[in-house]
Amino acid sequence: MDATTGLIHHPYQPPEGFAAPQPAVHKASTVIFANTAAMRARDWRSRSGYTYGLHGTPTTFTLEERLCHLEGGQQCLLVPSGLAAIANVSLSLLRSGDEVLIPDNAYGPNKALAEGELAAWGISHQFYDPLEPADLAARIGPRTRLVWLEVPGSVTLEFPDLPALVRICRDKGVLCALDNTWGAGLAFRPFELAPGLGVDISAQALTKYPSGGGDVLMGSVITRDKALHQRLKATHMRLGLGVGGNDVETVLRSLPSMALRYRAHDEAARALAAWCAARPQVVQVLHPAWPGSPGHEHWQALCTPAGGGQGLAAGLFSVVFDARFSPAQVDAFCDALRLFKLGYSWGGPMSLVVPYDLRSMRQRPTPHLLPGTVVRFSVGLESVDDLRRDLAQALGSQLPPA
Ligand SMILES: *Cc1c(COP(=O)(O)O)cnc(C)c1O
Repeated sequence: MDATTGLIHHPYQPPEGFAAPQPAVHKASTVIFANTAAMRARDWRSRSGYTYGLHGTPTTFTLEERLCHLEGGQQCLLVPSGLAAIANVSLSLLRSGDEVLIPDNAYGPNKALAEGELAAWGISHQFYDPLEPADLAARIGPRTRLVWLEVPGSVTLEFPDLPALVRICRDKGVLCALDNTWGAGLAFRPFELAPGLGVDISAQALTKYPSGGGDVLMGSVITRDKALHQRLKATHMRLGLGVGGNDVETVLRSLPSMALRYRAHDEAARALAAWCAARPQVVQVLHPAWPGSPGHEHWQALCTPAGGGQGLAAGLFSVVFDARFSPAQVDAFCDALRLFKLGYSWGGPMSLVVPYDLRSMRQRPTPHLLPGTVVRFSVGLESVDDLRRDLAQALGSQLPPA
């Protein structure tokens, strides 16, 4: 069954005589046992029953199963945010004396966790160049226990050769975890990158496309290996990571429309990226599906169907404005936008914009990026014509062509 269809036709059983397709919302901290023998016999790790709200309800189990189906995994943990998913993975698998490798263009708070808590606990880190598989291979040492992967890079959207990076981890016997928020389980199959080749762990911010509303924070950690899942689950339990039933319901309600929304965000972002590329004020367009964008060929190899077709590329793109415009002028452009609102995150119906100062975000040189100021757009579900007019009026008033 196609991943999209499986989000709707799922073997959920409603109560006898109530054949509604939508799942019920069960909320609980306490779950009552029939007697002390049943209480003692109950193993919280097993999904054969229920122990305590933090360890799962029928509602959280339903969402976990749907997400496994979506990403092609076998086990799932739900956590309170995308960042909590990253933390759950790193805190489960790393101990004092270990090292973690993180792409230099990773989601910023992943790097901050390494520089903060992990460093304080004696866990070292290195930031590798995801566009150079040889750089990753050279940095994997005897203390490396975990390699983070992310496609595409945060803000600058460089697309790495993901199968090559995973193969290096496999050859060196190091676990790899993918931040799969951008792909969302739709753009490519993280556990089936090539025959016999997949990531060990896929973490997602459900906050983005799975929620789709800009109103829920949640994350998921998906695996295909039961023993690995149990390691992650033990830490999940000891940290007390749980999610609320109403938030789970919101994501369950949004999942069936996710593939449609994702494609709509994608088509609009491509149209606007192409329009921006033709503006004289823009020196570089960063969008995995845009020819010439760093790693475009790797996006094409991973995210377009073998028989042809336009593939999938989410709703994000960035532009580099000509260095003759000061950062203050670029700020004024962002302020002049009316439909694109200034705000973090993406995946909701409203278009968002953020100007970035890359110097504070990268530890390594970025020769593939032209000089200038980077602005990232997250394209929502508004009319593309309205969004284009908004970009045009803000450009015209704040960043006049030479
Ligand atoms: C948003 C995001 C996260 C964090 O998700 P939150 O739910 O906001 O904590 C992690 N990784 C990526 C790539 C993201 O875009």
